[in-house]
Amino acid sequence: MPEAHLVVGVLNGDDIGHEIVPASVEVAKAAAARTGLVVDWRPTPIGRSALDTHGSTMPEGTLETLGSFDGFILGPIGHRAYPKVPGAINPHPILRKHFNLFANVRPTRSFPGIGCLYDDVDLVIVRENNEGFQPDRNVVAGSGEFRPTDEVTISVRVITRTGSRRVARAALELARSRRKHLTIIHKDTVFKLGCGMFVEECRKAALDFPDVLVDDVIVDTFAMRLVRDPQSFDVVVTTNMFGDILSDEAAGLVGGLGMAPGLCIGEGDIAMAQATHGSAPDIAGKGIANPYAMIESTRMLFDWLGRSRNVPQAVETAALMQRGVEAALANPETRTGDIRGSGGTADMVRGIIEGLGR
Ligand code: ATP
Ligand code: MG
Repeated sequence: MPEAHLVVGVLNGDDIGHEIVPASVEVAKAAAARTGLVVDWRPTPIGRSALDTHGSTMPEGTLETLGSFDGFILGPIGHRAYPKVPGAINPHPILRKHFNLFANVRPTRSFPGIGCLYDDVDLVIVRENNEGFQPDRNVVAGSGEFRPTDEVTISVRVITRTGSRRVARAALELARSRRKHLTIIHKDTVFKLGCGMFVEECRKAALDFPDVLVDDVIVDTFAMRLVRDPQSFDVVVTTNMFGDILSDEAAGLVGGLGMAPGLCIGEGDIAMAQATHGSAPDIAGKGIANPYAMIESTRMLFDWLGRSRNVPQAVETAALMQRGVEAALANPETRTGDIRGSGGTADMVRGIIEGLGR
């Protein structure tokens, strides 16, 4: 039996991150205490508070430090509000690219009573994370946008065979562990080369997964069908920007942004828990932020670490967290206002911990 011990970085991020990340750690700690999983939690400065204390939103050595962990929890980053000073950089793209976190796994799931448009949605969008209109700086210099004259802007969208194949494989693995259905979302009717290559590589990757049913849907049709019949999808794989937009749309089906978790994974052995929503400065400091997305992202991290490192206690910790979350969401007093509850962040944490059982 391998040692039940994990090292997990804790990066609060900005605004509501200072509330929902500690909430996630509190829940995970309570669950781990019940399964015998030992977690070495490593608070790591990032974002606006790091700028104040260390002179940079991503202090020197951060990547090396994070690289020594099994995984980390990243709170939302409110980089658009950073002052225009040296050291105030957006850590997101750097983290994704440094750790080669090319697949952003974003589940959407209904819970009763919280204001979902349907009570039976259970799908996962796997978004390519490092290419598209936000390509790696090694492939396209700068931001991938150019203004050759004041009149014209060119935005470059990069699709590679390798990038498409690896995100397809991640999505296929996930589909295999679920209802064995993968839908490729694209627009190859217009982007014949880019989306064409993406679909081609997904189809090729699928040859190694004969047990998974694979189909494809044009992105505009999918946007409509996601509203009309979301039940017909299991795992969905798509390029960076389509995935960004569609996962917010999917969140809208099940109670909004507070219900949109995510896990960033790659070929390496590190993963990053990151909610889909932003830092919500409008509600920061009020104790009313919905911690679900961050807690569920953290739960996904433990499940992933447990499976990839063969640590059954981590898988069990994740299962307990799920039970606690379901219990809290079932009671309006332990839900936040955005999902038809009367509680705050702390009430939800209390409800989840009470719901862990054992
Ligand atoms: P980004 O560009 O970083 O994605 P955004 O402009 O999309 O940010 P968010 O911060 O994601 O904005 O959120 C938009 C609004 O949704 C917030 O202002 C807030 O009112 C609400 N919201 C987001 N996350 C939560 C949450 N966890 N709990 C409650 N409300 C939330
Ligand atoms: Mg957003």
